[in-house]
Amino acid sequence: MDALITSLVQANFAPERIIPRASMARYTTFRVGGPADVLVNIANPEEISVALRAARHAGVPVTLIGNGSNLLVRDGGIRGLVMRIAGDCAGITRDGNTLHIQAGASLSAAAQFALNEGLAGLAEMAGIPGTIGGGVIMNAGAYGGELSQVVTRVDAVAVADGRPVVFEGPDLGFGYRHSAMMDAGVIVASVTMQLTPGDPDSIRTRMNELAHARRDKQPLNYPSAGSTFKRPQGMFAAKLIDDCGLRGLRIGDAQVSEKHAGFVVNLGSATASDVLALMDEIKRRVFEVTGVTLEPEVRILGQD
Ligand SMILES: Cc1cc2nc3c(=O)[nH]c(=O)nc-3n(C[C@H](O)[C@H](O)[C@H](O)COP(=O)(O)OP(=O)(O)OC[C@H]3O[C@@H](n4cnc5c(N)ncnc54)[C@H](O)[C@@H]3O)c2cc1C
Repeated sequence: MDALITSLVQANFAPERIIPRASMARYTTFRVGGPADVLVNIANPEEISVALRAARHAGVPVTLIGNGSNLLVRDGGIRGLVMRIAGDCAGITRDGNTLHIQAGASLSAAAQFALNEGLAGLAEMAGIPGTIGGGVIMNAGAYGGELSQVVTRVDAVAVADGRPVVFEGPDLGFGYRHSAMMDAGVIVASVTMQLTPGDPDSIRTRMNELAHARRDKQPLNYPSAGSTFKRPQGMFAAKLIDDCGLRGLRIGDAQVSEKHAGFVVNLGSATASDVLALMDEIKRRVFEVTGVTLEPEVRILGQD
């Protein structure tokens, strides 16, 4: 990985933003996962192509992460370069009722910005602990709101050759926890949204109600990646898991949350193998009892 680090330094990445042998447990909300060979924190959209060039020059694969809130990284970690776009690369600007948001902005910062500007359409995103980039890839949503309802354009960069790619209208390919960007081999650099003028007091009230509902229902005191499985058509994964008597089921330090059966939580020192074994067991038992095949919502990266 020395060649990669040299390329990144030559491309003017500050040394403190290049992290060799980065523990992915530190960069994911599940707090599990082995090391990435090298992780680089991206500070602005221009750096995306620069980091891609450095990886291509060193002949290593590139993996994208945002805030790591929908990720399970296997215990062997991730080979090559992990590009992290979260915290920085987070500018938000307004043009009429349109917001232009860089990929590293958090969903909650975007929702707060919209509230401050008296714009409605993002209140449901406030409690989702991801970035705009990770959110748009996943078509994140909650309580009836979904990014697909407001996103009109995504500016991205192709991993293969660094060329700019624009997704607009039907090309965004949004579905339930899915987008065209997810399968296109691209890095989201910025997102354009069309919002509507709204009453700040009503937006604030809605955000407070939803924050309260999350604290009430979700095991926010334990590390997790949110809902472990997607909702099967017309059903709730949490209810199926609960109905099969799996609430509290534990393998190592991975447990089906006692508070919300849709969440697998890390009780403290879970490994990715614990989480994966528990997910397999949940799938097996739910299928055995109900005939329904659960599909992971959590994205699984890396190697054993
Ligand atoms: C407590 C808790 C509650 C949650 N509640 C919800 C909820 O209500 N609704 C919901 O939808 N989700 C929820 N989630 C899951 C998660 O927060 C969302 O899926 C979020 O959108 C993921 O964003 P992220 O930045 O963390 O992405 P990551 O988890 O880092 O990445 C997710 C995927 O996006 C890709 N990716 C990330 N950034 C980029 C980029 N810039 N360009 C290209 N690809 C990228 C990654 O490679 C990965 O495949 C919850 C998670 C937790 C821990």
